[in-house]
Amino acid sequence: MKDLIQIKRERSLEEDNQSYFWIKFEGRENLATENFVPGNQVYKEKLIIKKSIEYRLWDAFRSKLAASIMNGLEDFPFKNKTKVLYLGASTGTTVSHISDIVGPSGIIFAVEHASRVARDFLDRVAGFRKNVIPILQDARKPKEYFSMFGKVDVVYVDIAQPDQTEIAIRNCEMYLKKGGYFFLVIKTRSIDVTKAPKRIVDEEVEKLREKFDVLQTIDLHPYDKDHAMVIAKY
Ligand code: SAM
Repeated sequence: MKDLIQIKRERSLEEDNQSYFWIKFEGRENLATENFVPGNQVYKEKLIIKKSIEYRLWDAFRSKLAASIMNGLEDFPFKNKTKVLYLGASTGTTVSHISDIVGPSGIIFAVEHASRVARDFLDRVAGFRKNVIPILQDARKPKEYFSMFGKVDVVYVDIAQPDQTEIAIRNCEMYLKKGGYFFLVIKTRSIDVTKAPKRIVDEEVEKLREKFDVLQTIDLHPYDKDHAMVIAKY
């Protein structure tokens, strides 16, 4: 009897702590997050209700964080209450799923420098989600958003710039807490089209070693061609 109660408790704890889910749809297990804004779609993703809870399917062809999970991401530091600095919000596909995960007590400071894209981001994501703070700024100038917040648990960078690793490091130095996680999307073609993708990833990873423990490098094929995700700890 005692054992049974113990097992039940452990299971429900696991469910409470779950950040993302696997939902059976059209005969396949699909990645999904619990919708923070029920009824609201961001990129025409499927909404599925199970046991009165609404989930949004998370498309790995549209989000490199989802592609990383599909390709074996080992550390997933986004949880209830996590604080995130996200550089390169674009129209908010990935930000919206992180917003689902971190919930009402978490927060995402989402930086985007292109004003037209940022307008779409406001209309689709930031306008509906209280845990997303949009910042229309250039990630090259992290001091410009200095007054906005203290240290964060995770810095996520997807800005597709040739000097993105240097930009990302400067942001981590200012805003990432010690022991925090760093996710860097490397678009190999935006760094140097003449070099082999693997060599480019190795060179960018090398720049991180002085300040970070590099935990994992994930090739995002077939979801994204010529992209890799690097996960490191500060
Ligand atoms: N992370 C997004 C997602 O998964 O939904 C996609 C990001 S998209 C590949 C890159 C974005 O970074 C673009 O919207 C671009 O305008 C933005 N960006 C590029 N350079 C930037 C900079 N220096 N500061 C802020 N945003 C930048």
